Amino acid sequence: MREETSTKETWPFECLRCLRVWEEEYVVRRGRDEHGDEIVVWTRDGMAVQPPWSGMTCPACGRGTVTTFPTGYLAHHPEITLGRPAPAEATLQDCRPSA
Ligand SMILES: [Zn+2]
Repeated sequence: MREETSTKETWPFECLRCLRVWEEEYVVRRGRDEHGDEIVVWTRDGMAVQPPWSGMTCPACGRGTVTTFPTGYLAHHPEITLGRPAPAEATLQDCRPSA
């Protein structure tokens, strides 16, 4: 009997060259082959792709000098805006000088 699970994971990336920050959404399919070894398939938009720590290139400058953050990192760092406007409450709380 083969079991297979699918989980959706959102990975934040940062380019070490141009400092762009962005996110990619993956669906990770985990199952077992006939030998009982774990199989992990990373997919994006229904296509099998390299895992996020391998082969990712920056969409801005095209370099492979890309690092990932731990999952959930961006949620605790509202100053990183992913190039889109921050939520209003985060702007009010975090962008005011404390003086
Ligand atoms: Zn870049």
